[in-house]
Amino acid sequence: PYDGPRAEEIFRKRAEFLSPSLFHFYDRPLNIVDGKMQYLFDEDGRRYLDAFGGIATVCCGHCHPDVVEAIVNQAKRIQHSTVLYLNHAIAEFAEALTSKMPGDLKVVFFTNSGTEANELALMIARLYTGCNDIISLRNGYHGNAAGTMGATAQSNWKFNVVQTGVHHALNPDPYRGAFGSDGEKYARDVQEIIEFGTTGRVAGFISEAIQGVGGIVELAPGYLPAAYNIVRKVGGLCIADEVQAGVARTGSHFWGFEGHGVIPDIVTMAKGIGNGIPIGAVVTTPDIAQVLTRRSYFNTFGGNPVSTAGGHAVLKVLEKEKLQENAFAVGSYLKEGLNKLKEKHDIIGDVRGKGFLLGAELVTDHDKKTPAKAEISHVMNHMKDMGVLVGKGGFYGNVFRITPPLCFTKEDSDFFIDVMDIALSKL
Ligand code: PMP
Repeated sequence: PYDGPRAEEIFRKRAEFLSPSLFHFYDRPLNIVDGKMQYLFDEDGRRYLDAFGGIATVCCGHCHPDVVEAIVNQAKRIQHSTVLYLNHAIAEFAEALTSKMPGDLKVVFFTNSGTEANELALMIARLYTGCNDIISLRNGYHGNAAGTMGATAQSNWKFNVVQTGVHHALNPDPYRGAFGSDGEKYARDVQEIIEFGTTGRVAGFISEAIQGVGGIVELAPGYLPAAYNIVRKVGGLCIADEVQAGVARTGSHFWGFEGHGVIPDIVTMAKGIGNGIPIGAVVTTPDIAQVLTRRSYFNTFGGNPVSTAGGHAVLKVLEKEKLQENAFAVGSYLKEGLNKLKEKHDIIGDVRGKGFLLGAELVTDHDKKTPAKAEISHVMNHMKDMGVLVGKGGFYGNVFRITPPLCFTKEDSDFFIDVMDIALSKL
C-alpha cells in the first residue's frame, strides 16, 4: 500500500512551487501512485483503466516488466552521456529502429523529446536545401521550442515566438475542412503557398499522419502523396512527425505515414518509443544526414544508454507480444463500439482514427458542428468516477482522445464502451 503524501498535499505544493500554467483534466485530479500494463492505481489503491496513457508514455503497458528490467540493468551498469565513449545500447537500438524503416531511412540522431527531434528535423531540412521556408498544417502540433512552436498551428499552444518562414497550409480535415475528403483539393493550397508565399523553393513540409493534439484528425485520403509530390518538385524535404502516430499505434502499419503510402525524407518520433523513458529520434537518409558534419553537433543525453536500452526493449516487446496486430484487431473493435455509441447518442458528431489512435468529437448541433465543451468535461469526470481514464483534445477541446497502451484487450474495450455509454446517457 501507498503511504506517501495525499492528493490534497501534493496539489497544494504544486500550486505553490510549480508552474502556474500546469493544467489538469479533472475537477479533482488523481494522485496516481502505481501503474501496471493498462491499469493505473491511485493513493487508495483504486484501479483505473487507462485509455489515454498510450499517447504520453506507455506503448506496451505501464511498467512493462521487460522494459523495466532493461532500464534497471542498464542503470546499474552505466548511465552516461553518449557523446564521449562507445556504448552497445545506442548502436543496437539504432540498428533495430532502422530495420523498421522503409527505403533509405537508415541514420538515427537521438534526442530527449519530440520537440527536440522536430527542431533538429527542421534544421536539417533547411541545411540540406539551403532554403528557409517550411510548410506545416493548420491544427498540427510539433513542439514547444521556438522553431517547433512556429510549425505548431493552433493559437492555444502558441506564445509570442517569431515565426519567420513558416507557412500553415489548409488542414485536410474530412469533418470540418472545406473540401471534405478530397485530399488533392487541399494539396493545391501547398502549391499556392509555394507560388505566392515563397521564392518558389522551400526547405520542407512537416505533418503528422493523424493529428493527435489536434483531435485525432485523419488527413483526407490522397493528401499526403499529393503534398509530398508538390514539395519535392521544388526541392523540399518531407518530414513525418510520428510522435503520436508511430510505433505500431495505428495497427495497420508500424508507422502512420505508411498508411498514406508515402516515404518521407525525415521521420521524427518520441513519447511511446521509450514506454515512459524520455527519448526522441530523427531518422533520415545517409545523404541528408551528412549536413550535420558541417559543424559540431552535440546533445548530452540524446541516445543515453538507459533510454536506448529501454527503447530497444520496447521494440522487442512489440514483436514478442504482437502488439501491432493487437492494435489493429482490438482498435477496430473499439472503433465499432464507438460508432454504435454514435448511433445512440446524438452528441457524438464524428468517430475517427485507426488502431489505438481513436477520436470521438462531441457537438451540440450536427449541422453547425458546435463544440460540446462543457459536456465533454462532464463525461470525462463521470467516466473517471467509474474507473476509466480518457483524454481530450482538438482545437475546441471537444474531442475524446482514446489512445490506450497497445496491450488493451477486447474486454477492456467492452468495459470502456459501457462506461462511456452510461456517462453519455447521464448528460
Ligand atoms: N509532435 C507531436 C505530434 C506531438 O504530439 C508532440 C507532443 N504532444 C510533440 C511533437 C512534442 O513532443 P514533446 O512533448 O516530447 O516535446
